[in-house]
Amino acid sequence: MTTAPIAPPRDGASTAHADAIVVGSLNMDLVVRTPRHPQPGETLLGRGFDATPGGKGANQAVALARLGANTAMVGRVGDDAYGRALVANLDREGIHHRGVLARPDTETGVAMIQVDDASQNSIVVIPGSNGELSPSDIASADATLGRARLLVCQLEVPLTTVREALARARRHGVTTLLNAAPAMTLPQDVLALVDWLVVNESEAAALSGHPVGHPDDAAQAIRRLRQSGCRQILVTLGAQGVVAADDSGLHHYPAPKVAAVDTTAAGDTFVGGFAAALLRGASVEAAVREGQAAAAIAVTRPGAQASIPHRDELADH
Ligand code: ADP
Repeated sequence: MTTAPIAPPRDGASTAHADAIVVGSLNMDLVVRTPRHPQPGETLLGRGFDATPGGKGANQAVALARLGANTAMVGRVGDDAYGRALVANLDREGIHHRGVLARPDTETGVAMIQVDDASQNSIVVIPGSNGELSPSDIASADATLGRARLLVCQLEVPLTTVREALARARRHGVTTLLNAAPAMTLPQDVLALVDWLVVNESEAAALSGHPVGHPDDAAQAIRRLRQSGCRQILVTLGAQGVVAADDSGLHHYPAPKVAAVDTTAAGDTFVGGFAAALLRGASVEAAVREGQAAAAIAVTRPGAQASIPHRDELADH
């Protein structure tokens, strides 16, 4: 495949200037372990409880940072204990977070996750302040965005805000990557602002209207999606790997074979590894393989952010 048209590192860029900027969600994941899921009206004794940082935006920022990219995040939390914990977590990961503002009038986003003994989960997400991230917040981060080389977005914040970020990045000549998750349809003007579209099977199906369960279906979906103006598309297929398309054609990259125990954040880890490699000047093929190597490690470990590897761990695989 051809090399991605990403800007080279800027001369004399200080560490205060992030190469990657993530515009997206931050949630506190409240994970309850139960023997089984309760019936409506029933009270059950659970086996354990964890509160851990999550949200696709924050997960991808953590993956980018651990996998070697100088990363900044733009998002919203509430002015509450969860919000402070999520910002402290970004700080520990070395992610610039001046663009993550605390709103006094809304609460930090939370995901209530119940996991039973068969590892089946049910999840309720309350977007909270993620739903308040506004186009004017993106305008306030314009200087940081303009100095970056890659913008990474997902769809857990309002679409008008995602559109604003993509449009500003395009004006600045900053490469754009949209992980179009969770699954939904998107207007064509948004897709036309995307340089790299990364979607899993259900997201590819929602966007293209074509069911996807196999690499051949992914190729069909990609052909439809490329008509919308987005030329570079990666469809992730879990253990079946990735189908990637650009102007040089379609390529299938099988995933490394591993014993998966928990696939939470596999897609977020893939995005972070792929994007961090592109920023280092890797070819698209090498970047896909790096994303896959990182995700293959993540699925062998429990948890979301806890499972995301650091770059020095990739060498051992
Ligand atoms: P999402 O988490 O967004 O649903 P996928 O399930 O498609 O995304 O996983 C993203 C990537 O993670 C895959 O393309 C693959 O590289 C890797 N991956 C996921 N599941 C496995 C697995 N069981 N074995 C190896 N790699 C996996």
